[in-house]
Order: sequence, then structure tokens, then C-alpha cells
Amino acid sequence: PGSQLPHDPSKKNIVVVGSGWGSTAFLKSLDTAEYNVTVISPRNFFLFTPLLPSVAVGTLASKSILQPIRYMTRHKERKITVIEAQAKSVDPIAKTITFADESEVQGEVSSTTIPFDYLVYAVGAETQTFGIPGVKEHACFMKEIQDAERFKRRFMDCVESAGFPGQREEEIERLLHMAVVGGGPTGIEVSGELHDFLEDDLKAWYPELSNKIKITLIEALPSVLPMFSRELIDYTVSTFKESKIDILTGTMVKEIKDKSVVLQMPDKSIKEVPVGLVVWAGGNKARDVSVDLMSRLSDAQKNKRGITVDDHLRMAGTDGTIFALGDCTSSQYAPTAQVASQQGAYLARMFRQFAKRDALLEQVSAAKQEGTNTESLEKQLKKAENLRPFHYSHQGSLAYIGSEKAIADLEFFHHKFASGGVATFLFWRSAYLSTLFSMRNRVLVATDWLKVKLFGRDLVRD
Ligand code: FAD
Ligand code: NAD
Repeated sequence: PGSQLPHDPSKKNIVVVGSGWGSTAFLKSLDTAEYNVTVISPRNFFLFTPLLPSVAVGTLASKSILQPIRYMTRHKERKITVIEAQAKSVDPIAKTITFADESEVQGEVSSTTIPFDYLVYAVGAETQTFGIPGVKEHACFMKEIQDAERFKRRFMDCVESAGFPGQREEEIERLLHMAVVGGGPTGIEVSGELHDFLEDDLKAWYPELSNKIKITLIEALPSVLPMFSRELIDYTVSTFKESKIDILTGTMVKEIKDKSVVLQMPDKSIKEVPVGLVVWAGGNKARDVSVDLMSRLSDAQKNKRGITVDDHLRMAGTDGTIFALGDCTSSQYAPTAQVASQQGAYLARMFRQFAKRDALLEQVSAAKQEGTNTESLEKQLKKAENLRPFHYSHQGSLAYIGSEKAIADLEFFHHKFASGGVATFLFWRSAYLSTLFSMRNRVLVATDWLKVKLFGRDLVRD
């Protein structure tokens, strides 16, 4: 780190917004020799989202799936400035970004505006609640590390309260009824992990309560996991049946109350069901800062779901200096880590090409001034100006469904291949272990898995 090149006023400034899948893939591959880079994100770490449900039930420790963003930036050639702050607004015309420190502790200055030459915008999305009453107040989300920790605390709180002497049978049943809303991969994985916790640990530690724990997965659509092949959906449904996880499809949550969920059943009747804990995994929606940015370019940004970009990830309606990627965009691709990280790596390659193009432009103009032949330089320049569009290569879909079983829709050499079961679970584990951010994360996650095998999950409610 000591040998990093300092900020160079003659170089162009890239501001990267966010420290998630898109931004870190970009930063990992970016050649910083040619740019000054500033990262702005309210969290100073990268979160490996695929293993978040495992943290929620204590299979993994939070720290094992986090990587401080500075661990990565310190190895770059030029010093990267990292600022822990929330982007509040972007002015796409003046090319400035305003951000604020909204953490618990703030100094005298906590808000400022800086200019950029290029903006790499990857703030992700927030959880979609559709304005359904009570969701924000009473449900747990599963998006950030704090969500997983909150879930674990509340789940254990429900179990301990159910064991309180003199508790009525009905109240015990309510406290031990866990509802998961959303039959997308997040809801499925949370239900599966919850089931494992129950089977592997709670049965031994709370034998008098464990048979009263009930898990219900609620999905508004007629089927869960619409992005997976039919046979894997059926496999998941039958595995859940064996695991005694109830699936209510065609059922919409209309309201969440302190101690119950209000459901609209497939026959349109309304039913109020007592619950101890609700996990809300209802999908994504654009963040306020993205909505504000889109509203400034309303002629080109008509899609409310996210930022519209062209096939080079340039934000529609801008002069080509603002790039958006990952979950904050609305495109033909699903909002997945796979897409965001490929987009980040693609953009880093684009920036390498921009640097080449800019250097050649300078050489051409210098050669012209000197009156020398520019033919060969112009040929190279033409090549450097030819930017390839982003191409997504789908590696397949993977999800953990509990009971040491996973499902995978994979593609090998244009052949589709679906598999589910224990072998797929081992594949799931090794695939995620190898995609983890660093050797440090790999060692921590592998050690946590071993610890759970030896001693069971962590039941401490902190
Ligand atoms: P994120 O990774 O969400 O990063 C956004 C970043 O922006 C964060 O660092 C955030 O702190 C920061 N930020 C937020 N607001 C601001 C602001 N105002 N200013 C500055 N920065 C801001 N996808 C898969 O492909 N495979 C999986 O197995 C998988 N499992 C998942 C499991 C769970 C539980 C969840 C929730 C998602 C999962 N996904 C998975 C989806 C995947 O996590 C997302 O598609 C991916 O995170 C998108 O990357 P991103 O960079 O766009 O956003
Ligand atoms: P999602 O959008 O995939 O699923 C949300 C589900 O909630 C939908 O099926 C929706 O019908 C349902 N829903 C919404 N409101 C409801 C209501 N009121 N009542 C009942 N059901 C309701 O969301 P997700 O599962 O959080 O996934 C988000 C993205 O992250 C997706 O692109 C997904 O592919 C990706 N992801 C991938 C993995 C993986 O590959 N293993 C894991 C998690 C997330």
C-alpha cells in the first residue's frame, strides 16, 4: 500500500457509488494507473449476499461473509479514496454528486458535493413492500447483514418466550409460527435454513418446543421459484413437504400486524393467521436516490423499476459519462449477483479502453501539430473507439432448499442441465466457497461449517 500512486490532478476522476457486487467487481478489475478513483458507500464492506440466510440461523458468523472494502482498494496501483457516506443526489448535468455521513457518529462536516468525470453507479435496490401496511414495522427483511442479525435475535426471542412458564398453548403456537413471505429464491433459502436449524439444533436444545415450530411460506403467484425449471420447482415443493414447511401459493399478504398476518386466500377470502415472526422477501424496488436521479432525466428514464441503460451500460439521457449497473438498473437481465459482477468486470475493461483511446487522441493531435503522418495512429484510434457491448454469460441458477439439498439449473456448452439433491448441495457449497471474496472469507466460512458440524449452531441471543 505504501507504494500506491497518489491522486493526480491531470487524470480523470471516477466516482464509484456502492460497495456491493457491481462496484467491487469493477474495482477488482480496474486499472487505476490511469484514473483517480473515489468510492462512496454507506457500508465500508462488501457483503456476500448468497450466504446471508446462513447467517440468519447462526450457521455462519456475520464477519465470515463480509470483506472490508479497503482490503481490496489498498492493493491497487493508485490510491483509492473510500468515503463511508450515503449518496443523496446526483446532478447528471453539472456532473456532481452530493453525499452525507448518516452514521451514528458524525464530525463537524457531514455532507458535501464533489464533481466527477465518470460516475459508476451501483447502489443496488431496496426491499419492495408495495406499501402493504405493517411490513416495515413488523417484518424482518433479508437484504443487509443487520437484517440477518435481527432475524436471529427475534427468532431466538420467540423460542425463549414460548418457553416462559405458564404460557398458554395457543400463545406458544403463535410464538413458534414463522411466516416467510415471498417464494423467490430468498424466501425459499430462508425457509430451508430455518428448517435445518430446527432439525439439527432446536430439537436437541428445546425438545418440548421443537415439534410445535411451524414454518409457512406464502407466495402470491401460483408457483414458487418461477426462474427455475419445472422439475426443480416440483423437487423443491416435495422437499418442503417432507420437511413439513407449508407452502401457500396464490395467497397474498395484505397486512402484517404485531402478532398476525392478514392473508387473501386463493378463493379471495380473508384470513388472519397468528405468527411470532415474519420474514419479508417480497423482491426489489429502486432506492430514493435512484428515483431522484431518474426524475432529472425523465424524458429518457421512463421505467420506474430502475435505471434504463444502453448496451454499454451508459445511463440513457446522459452524455455517456454516467454508467449504471446491477440491481439499480432495469434491463433484460435478472437482478442477480452474477449479472452485477459481470457488468462490473465489463466496465473495468471499458475504462481500460477509454484510457487507451484518450492517450491516442492526444498522440494524434500532437502528431498533427508536428505535421507527421497520423495514419497508423488513426487506425489504432479507430480500433480503440470501437466499444464492444456488454454480453452476459449465464452460468446457471443455484439455490439451497434445506436438508442438505440444493437445486441447480446449469448450462454446459449450450446444454441445459437440472439437478437437485445432496450432490447438488455439495456443488452449491463448493461453488460459493470458491466465489467468496478472499482467502480470508473462504477460511472463515469453511471453519464455520466445520464448527456447526462439531458443536451445532450458535444459539446465543445477543
Ligand atoms: P448490492 O450488492 O446490493 O450493492 C449495493 C451497494 O450500494 C451496497 O454496498 C450498499 O451499501 C450501497 N448503497 C446503498 N445505498 C447507497 C447510497 N445511497 N449511496 C451509496 N451507496 C449506497 N444473486 C445471485 O446471483 N446468486 C445468489 O445466490 C444470490 N443470493 C442472494 C441472497 C440474498 C439473501 C439476497 C438479498 C440477494 C441474493 N442475490 C443473489 C442477488 C444479489 O445479491 C444482487 O443481485 C446483487 O447484490 C446486486 O449487486 P449490486 O452491486 O447491484 O447491489
Ligand atoms: P423475488 O422478486 O425473486 O421474489 C419475491 C416474491 O415475493 C415474488 O414471487 C412475489 O410474487 C412475492 N410477493 C410479493 N409480494 C407478496 C405478497 N404481498 N404476498 C405474497 N407474496 C408476495 O425476490 P427475491 O427472492 O428477494 O430475489 C431477488 C433477486 O435476487 C432475484 O433476481 C433473485 O434471482 C436473486 N436471488 C437469487 C438467489 C439465488 O440465485 N440463489 C437467492 C436470492 C436472491
